Amino acid sequence: MKICVYPGSFDPVTNGHIDVIQRAARMFDKVIVAVVANPNKQPAFTLEDRAAFLKRVLSDMDNVEVDSFSGLLIDYMHVKKASVIIRGLRAVSDFEHEFQMALMNKKLDDNIETIFMMTNGQYSYLSSSMVKEVAGLGGCIKGLVPDEILTEVVRALRKKGE
Ligand code: ADP
Repeated sequence: MKICVYPGSFDPVTNGHIDVIQRAARMFDKVIVAVVANPNKQPAFTLEDRAAFLKRVLSDMDNVEVDSFSGLLIDYMHVKKASVIIRGLRAVSDFEHEFQMALMNKKLDDNIETIFMMTNGQYSYLSSSMVKEVAGLGGCIKGLVPDEILTEVVRALRKKGE
């Protein structure tokens, strides 16, 4: 069984992430969307909320599982018996950081591959930080995050923006 892990902050999940997940789900037997608990980042949403949003949106996808982890991604990959890391690429600005991480993970375990999914043109400008900024300032984020979580995300981010 080919299992891949799509790790990320998902703070919050956007339609750009969902697009990557849907495409990965067509290529792998199982996709584990893994919310990263990164102590160096100050997320807008708790780990539990970020995972709950993903679970709600992805509940009808049979081969997609939502989980969270802390620590080294490579260790998590071993626990899950996954062999492929999925990451998304938007503009050139993503490249350097993604390149470094992919090479470091390859050094840690040569048997694990990172596969990059090119963004869907329609979402190439879309990031969680942009969503947080726009919603915090009262702008409309419909179409940028899944409809199922829109109201909750907007309410939380407006409160923060006040
Ligand atoms: P991280 O903090 O790990 O970068 P993110 O939630 O910001 O977490 O992103 C997770 C992954 O999804 C990254 O590989 C990122 O490049 C990718 N990604 C984010 N937004 C998009 C998008 N609009 N299209 C394609 N890939 C995306």
